[in-house]
Amino acid sequence: MGRAVADFNLIEEGDRVMVGVSGGKDSYTLLHLLERLRKRAPIKFELMAVTIDSGYPGFRTDIIRDHLLESGIPFHIEPTEHYQIIEAKRRPGSSYCSFCARLKRGTLYTLAQQFNCNKLALGHHLDDFVETLLLNQFYVGSLKAMAPRMLADNGHTTVIRPLVYLAEDEIITFAKQMKFPIVCCRCPVCGVADIKRRRMKGLLTELQKEIPFIKQSLLNALGNVKPRHLLDPHLTKPAD
Ligand code: SF4
Repeated sequence: MGRAVADFNLIEEGDRVMVGVSGGKDSYTLLHLLERLRKRAPIKFELMAVTIDSGYPGFRTDIIRDHLLESGIPFHIEPTEHYQIIEAKRRPGSSYCSFCARLKRGTLYTLAQQFNCNKLALGHHLDDFVETLLLNQFYVGSLKAMAPRMLADNGHTTVIRPLVYLAEDEIITFAKQMKFPIVCCRCPVCGVADIKRRRMKGLLTELQKEIPFIKQSLLNALGNVKPRHLLDPHLTKPAD
């Protein structure tokens, strides 16, 4: 993670970094690695954790609260009515996850400003980056993944993804070693959501048997773009 922070200049002197903590393995890992970095980094920055309670019945914010209290990291848990909004406004057939994620992201941006945090750290890891790359190519017809650092549309908050170089396997191992109290979001599509993403995950697992370094190679490809060998007229000059 330190290498990613350095490569993409993710954290700077005086930053106030809000970490989105869902209660899953990725966000706990992100929070704890950033806290370790904060304690030994030569620059000063502050951290706080934020959990969005989307209102899904049975979501155990108490477990997350206890863990954050124990960690000593400042935190806030925001109750919302996202569940009711999704149930009332989602168009039939549209993705539950994208509506839910959009609402969550909007609330995180609002809270980042409210708590005077200039950065919002999210727990997307290497597998998320390459799966998103494949999803966009297979289903959308676009060559894009995610940015490790990007100014949000609100023009104030910089979104950072410090786990870009960490494979999901490594995070699973770390989360087990740390005995993180994993909490399920309890949403209606938990575990069955995102069939397309699961398909990409399965495909990568299958291909990995033949090409062990495939995920790393796909991630490297994202940082090794040759615009002249693509078809986007915005990137290529006709005379070249
Ligand atoms: S899995 Fe559930 S909580 Fe997560 S984004 Fe999808 S709907 Fe929301």
